[in-house]
Amino acid sequence: MKIIMYGTGKAEREYVQDWMKETGNEVEMVSDQLNAQTIDLAKGCDGISIQQTKPLGDSAVYQELAAMGIKQIATRTAGYDMIDLAACRANGIVVTNVAVYSPRAIAEMGLTHAMYLLRHIGEFTSRMDQGDFRWNPDLISSEIYTQTVGIIGLGNIGGATAELYKALGARVLAYDPNKNVEYAPFVEYTDLDTIIKTADIISLHTPLLPSTKNMLAAPQFAAMKKNAIVINMARGGLINTADLITALENHEIAGAGLDTLADETGFFNQEVAVDQLPADYQRLHAMPNVLITPHVAFFTTTSIRNMVEISLNDVVRVVTGQRTKNEVHL
Ligand code: NAD
Repeated sequence: MKIIMYGTGKAEREYVQDWMKETGNEVEMVSDQLNAQTIDLAKGCDGISIQQTKPLGDSAVYQELAAMGIKQIATRTAGYDMIDLAACRANGIVVTNVAVYSPRAIAEMGLTHAMYLLRHIGEFTSRMDQGDFRWNPDLISSEIYTQTVGIIGLGNIGGATAELYKALGARVLAYDPNKNVEYAPFVEYTDLDTIIKTADIISLHTPLLPSTKNMLAAPQFAAMKKNAIVINMARGGLINTADLITALENHEIAGAGLDTLADETGFFNQEVAVDQLPADYQRLHAMPNVLITPHVAFFTTTSIRNMVEISLNDVVRVVTGQRTKNEVHL
């Protein structure tokens, strides 16, 4: 079988080579994204795998794929909002995604942010840059096993995060309207209010929904402990950014670790002149008690290998008429 893999990144190539050797299938790797201009590259191929955030195009793209005999689109990502599901349904195209590739990758990045902030590494680095190497009493740290961690959203990633903190001896509280028994050994279930008021580290792991948008805003920051560290590895829109900046400036909370920002799509995973960055990013970035990474919590060798393998295996399954649990409901 011949598969075209659009949007191939450098980090993916060796896993694709391994997969080709193991399965005997041929994969043509192209860096282009799938759209009206690049659709011809799929001619003569049996299946398609994509990795992109930009929409594929209007209904003509899907009609052309169907006319070429393409039966499926496999995105190597969890999100599939770049694919027009109605157009897929109309043209008999099955869509698959990779919802779970390595929860541990994101959990470890969240823990890394929390430890960085807990040990005041940003503040020490910033003072050392000014020639201040003193053991300032305001920078004394706490040890992780003395801390109470509050996990909001105990799904795949929140659960993996709870397991890590529990292993380090922390007390782990969790709030999730759907109690997942799989993670019960690692947490004490509680309500959101208790987490907001009592946790030293608050770690967000819910999807962005109308019900979760701005779930941390001025009233929640005001209710948090002064030493609270907020970690957001999930979606920027879960936090009201302006209120977060105010809470940090007023010392209502101690720090924030952010892998996602509400307006990140304009600059994360792109080269952008620093003076073109949004003002809220610049204000957060200037604070030594804030750590920002450009939505890279997922970016590990394990994640990339799993995304490639799961996606390509699903191409084979769908093209050969088998079902897969990764089919997106059209
Ligand atoms: P999941 O579906 O396994 O878990 C989400 C959990 O949130 C579920 O258990 C759900 O019941 C719970 N939830 C829903 N509404 C809630 C609410 N109002 N309060 C508390 N809990 C609520 O999802 P996941 O795979 O663990 O992903 C979690 C988040 O991480 C998502 O926002 C996802 O987009 C994000 N993510 C980020 C990265 C990254 O690189 N930074 C990578 C993958 C996923």
